[in-house]
Amino acid sequence: MRIVGFGQEDTRSLENTASRTVTVTTPVRSLVSINFERMNHALTYYNDRFDLKPGDRVFVTGKLEGVIGIVESVTTKFRIKISEYQKVVSLAQAPMHGTYSPKGNMMRSYDSNALSPDEFRKWILPPAAIDEDAKEEILFGDGYEIPLEDPSTADGVDPAVFDRAIDLCRSGKIGYVSFRNGEGKAFVRGSKWYEIDFSIRNNMLQEAYCECPYAGLCKHLLAVSMIISVMRKHDDLDLDRDFTLIEENQFWNMTRHIRQDITL
Ligand SMILES: [Zn+2]
Repeated sequence: MRIVGFGQEDTRSLENTASRTVTVTTPVRSLVSINFERMNHALTYYNDRFDLKPGDRVFVTGKLEGVIGIVESVTTKFRIKISEYQKVVSLAQAPMHGTYSPKGNMMRSYDSNALSPDEFRKWILPPAAIDEDAKEEILFGDGYEIPLEDPSTADGVDPAVFDRAIDLCRSGKIGYVSFRNGEGKAFVRGSKWYEIDFSIRNNMLQEAYCECPYAGLCKHLLAVSMIISVMRKHDDLDLDRDFTLIEENQFWNMTRHIRQDITL
């Protein structure tokens, strides 16, 4: 099956734009109702930059700057005083390529042009935060080693933390995992998105780091080890190949915006 996004353009010319952010269709001025995480009601924003649709993930100006919001509804029928409204400033998206197969609650690809960690970051962080992160100096201590045969046997596993890691796996909080050219990356959603680095050697996750503040072997690292471990045991993941895994809801949300085509 081939899924093509709403772009009507010639796909040959789009292939040249692979490394750039997808340009959105002609902006349609609108008033949009946006829901933010941990808020129980939607807020209204003015948009003049994008052709927004319900389900789009956006960033806005004002108090909720940097918090990702989901568009609930869009109307072009309005009469407003512009000074009274905050605005939509960016649409979280990145190009999608590659062939994916559903495996459990993850979509798996072995393609070298599948969504990269940097592209995934564009879905979860506003452009300003990505720029700031790039400037930040990052220090690494010793990393963790986690046996993929049975992650619960890793040194320093707290059984209560292990249970919470199982909850993360079950509830689809592992948004992204990739292993390419010897470098592993994952993004797990807790109270915010946490980034994980690792390598895989001798059937172990090695040099595994999570950026969350927990001082110990955290649920995020255990959850990523578990999903790799379980998929490998069920022959859903070949660790001798470079791979990319995207959580299914995240994946389908992303494909709403594609301008390049992907294969399933
Ligand atoms: Zn963590």
